Amino acid sequence: MNKNVSYVFLKSLIFFSFIFLLVSITYIKNLENIYKKEINNAVESELNLKISTAKNNFVTLKKDLLYISEVYELNKDYSTIKKELSTLLALKNSYLEICFLKNDGTKLLEIRNKRTSKLINNKYPSIIKQLKKGDIYLSPIKIEKESNNRTTFKMPFLNVITPLFDKDKPDGFLVINYPLTELFSIFSNSNFDLETLIINKDNYILNQKLSSKFIFDKNSTFDNIYKNLSIEISNNLNDNLKGTFKTDNFHVNVNEINLTSWINKNPKIQPLTLKLITIIDNNLIENRVNTYLKTIMWLAFLYFFIAMIISIIFANYNTREKETRLRLKISDKMFENSHDGILVTDKDNKIQRVNKSFTKITGYEEKEILNKTPKILKSTGYHTRLFYKNIWDNLNEHLHWEGEITNIRKNGMPYTEELSISKIYTEANDFFYIASFVDITESKKNKKMIEDKLEENKTYLEIINDYLITLKVDINGKILDVSDAFCLICGYSKEELIGHNHDILRHPETPNEFYFSMWDTIYSGKKWEGEIKNIKKNGETYYVHTKISPMYNNLNTITGYALVAIDITDKKRIEKMSVTDELTQTYNRRYFNLTIEKEILRAKRDNKTIAFAILDVDFFKQYNDTYGHDKGDYALQSVALCLRETIFRANDFAFRLGGEEFGILTTDITTTNFRKILERIRTNIEDLNIEHSKSEASKNITVSIGGIVISAKNATSVKIYKLADKLLYKVKNEGRNKVLVEEA
Ligand code: GH3
Ligand code: MG
Ligand code: MG
Repeated sequence: MNKNVSYVFLKSLIFFSFIFLLVSITYIKNLENIYKKEINNAVESELNLKISTAKNNFVTLKKDLLYISEVYELNKDYSTIKKELSTLLALKNSYLEICFLKNDGTKLLEIRNKRTSKLINNKYPSIIKQLKKGDIYLSPIKIEKESNNRTTFKMPFLNVITPLFDKDKPDGFLVINYPLTELFSIFSNSNFDLETLIINKDNYILNQKLSSKFIFDKNSTFDNIYKNLSIEISNNLNDNLKGTFKTDNFHVNVNEINLTSWINKNPKIQPLTLKLITIIDNNLIENRVNTYLKTIMWLAFLYFFIAMIISIIFANYNTREKETRLRLKISDKMFENSHDGILVTDKDNKIQRVNKSFTKITGYEEKEILNKTPKILKSTGYHTRLFYKNIWDNLNEHLHWEGEITNIRKNGMPYTEELSISKIYTEANDFFYIASFVDITESKKNKKMIEDKLEENKTYLEIINDYLITLKVDINGKILDVSDAFCLICGYSKEELIGHNHDILRHPETPNEFYFSMWDTIYSGKKWEGEIKNIKKNGETYYVHTKISPMYNNLNTITGYALVAIDITDKKRIEKMSVTDELTQTYNRRYFNLTIEKEILRAKRDNKTIAFAILDVDFFKQYNDTYGHDKGDYALQSVALCLRETIFRANDFAFRLGGEEFGILTTDITTTNFRKILERIRTNIEDLNIEHSKSEASKNITVSIGGIVISAKNATSVKIYKLADKLLYKVKNEGRNKVLVEEA
């Protein structure tokens, strides 16, 4: 039992139990009263019934008497009378005997019942002589001893007497000896186990038999046998000793019947009265109540059992009903609101129901196509007959088919749908079809478009991979992916790069500061763009113009960096060539002209000094003349290299100003320090030991240097150049192989 069921079950069980308890409590509370009342009513009605039965018997008896007396009056023929009486006796076999008496009391005629063995000896009181026509006299109860073989029993009976007339003249009496056994048995039998005692005026219990004998013994009177009850009766009841009362053990009803009054109106006639004492054992009531309670207990058990079963069934039913209703509602909503078009057809393939999506897709309203077949949607030229046959074969065999099919909309346009049809049996011979479909015309078109686009993109990606230098690194700088173009430029294979740190590409000449500033930018989530000098696997240098962008995941956190670059090595080479003197590989005059202006401006902005010196090889004309032009070129190269190697600060420049003249440019330097550098240059060149036998200054090649240190704010390129040149001239005149530096 699921949770839902048990809840409803509990609810209904409590409900049933509550009702049961309410009814039971009220009923049990009144049960004793109800039962006592019932017994009283029963006793009363039983007694009344008995009395009326007895009364009826006596009325019949009266009728019989009157009938016989009338027969007598009309017919004096004894044989006829005798015949009539015999018939009556045969019918009423309870009558003991019937006799006719003369007025003086002598018997005229006597007829006995067969059971009555001998004549009953009767004495009749003189009161009978006063009887009028129609009067019935009941004698006091007489007891007739009857012998039946060896047993003798006493039979209580009455003389029932009516006067006979011969044309209004009294003509004797009719006597019926009427036994009281029938009367007693009426009162003795009870439906309620009530004991009713019939007592005569002499206190005899008339209907109490002791071993088939009626007791008419002086010792067996009511007062003797029921001594206590007799006292109770006289204590509890009024002078008439009639009514009901209750003792500890008994419930007693005392009643009196007047038999004479039932059949006779003449008040002069002494009435025959009997007392009826009905005794009900109190235990009887209690037993009845107990039996009743026991029955109720069983009923309660049964009730609970049934209530439980009903509750379970009810709960189950209720829940199932609810579930079914819910499920129906859901499936109905699903049917109506489904994005799939749904179509239901009966066993003859006639359309029974379609949903909104069906109408939306096909253009047909439900009412237009009800009871039509789905053939209305069938396209021509898209599918073969075999295709449709295959659908039906599948439905009949496997009860299901699904696939793509092209149908026709109401407006005649074809559309392709993904269709699924099921054959559903409701009974052995009853089934229906349910078809659901999705219009895939658009999605097919889109799919095709996407496929084309993907193909196009693939080509693009291939092109990008082949021609675009790209690199992806994670946040730790580990290479995740690299394009073929990148591999080509750096000389490493993909395998050699992926998984390694990008440091593998770093040129040793690139200062750390460069990378620090680059990473600062990209770590803060900004894009970085600039030129990077890298080193190939074979040690060659290459330059790339690079854009680096951070990559984000869907939580907007940086997962790595993507680098796109252009190879600018060639450009760099051309650039370098344009500023470099080919022979000495130092910056050329053109570059000097640009640089000096830039540096002056920069130094001015920073309020710094600018220092410039001109270096000239001593007696170089003679050198050429002595050693040849080629040697002269070579000597120039050696001087230039020595110059470049001696100056090492980032902002120190060396230029070939022309012929055998070089320029040295630097900023932010004191005169002393500049002199020291220039002096070092001079000595280093002399120490190259390039023999120059024709020099008057030294046995080796030497240089003369004139330098000027000036505050940038006072400087112009022309002024600086002139001042340095002047000092050089001075040095030449002073003997060469010397440095002269002045502060301007
Ligand atoms: P000094 O400067 O000591 O007064 O004497 P000098 O001989 O060096 O005088 P000058 O400046 O007049 O001579 C410069 C010479 O340098 C002239 C030329 O023969 C030589 N020269 C200039 N350019 C080159 C060059 O590119 N290659 C070679 N081999 N010699 C050059
Ligand atoms: Mg010169
Ligand atoms: Mg010279």
